[in-house]
Amino acid sequence: MVGFGYDSHSMAEGKPLLLGGIKIESDLGTIAHSDGDVVLHALSDALLGASGLGDIGELFPDTDSKYKGADSKLFVGQIMKLLEDRNLFIINLDITILLEKPKLKNYKDKIRQSISELVKIPIEYVNVKAKTNEGMGFIGRQEGIAAYCVCEIQQKA
Ligand code: MG
Repeated sequence: MVGFGYDSHSMAEGKPLLLGGIKIESDLGTIAHSDGDVVLHALSDALLGASGLGDIGELFPDTDSKYKGADSKLFVGQIMKLLEDRNLFIINLDITILLEKPKLKNYKDKIRQSISELVKIPIEYVNVKAKTNEGMGFIGRQEGIAAYCVCEIQQKA
């Protein structure tokens, strides 16, 4: 089964920027109820999409104070448990991050490693791509960041 996830957050100075559980050196970080990790949120929704289990907002509502400042790795961990309970396992992940700056060239492998540990698949099956938006729109104006994730999962016989 294939799943797709998308997430975006607005950005401001002095906020932390976490991508795939990795702290990125950046003047701007995400404004969010949780830790604002767009990569892990897009990944979460892709996994939920592929397994037909709804979306991240249903499982971890941002109106619930228990998720204030929440570590998004915990969301992924709980979703992995739901998948494991159903004998579902991940084949591969393909992630695209849209961010005007900083360049993520030196972070991509760290993000892949972090995600591969979180979802327990080899790093070769976790692809991370990063793009600017060529100065256009809210990404281009550095008002926000977005991430997309596609995944394939399979049910064990
Ligand atoms: Mg989010």
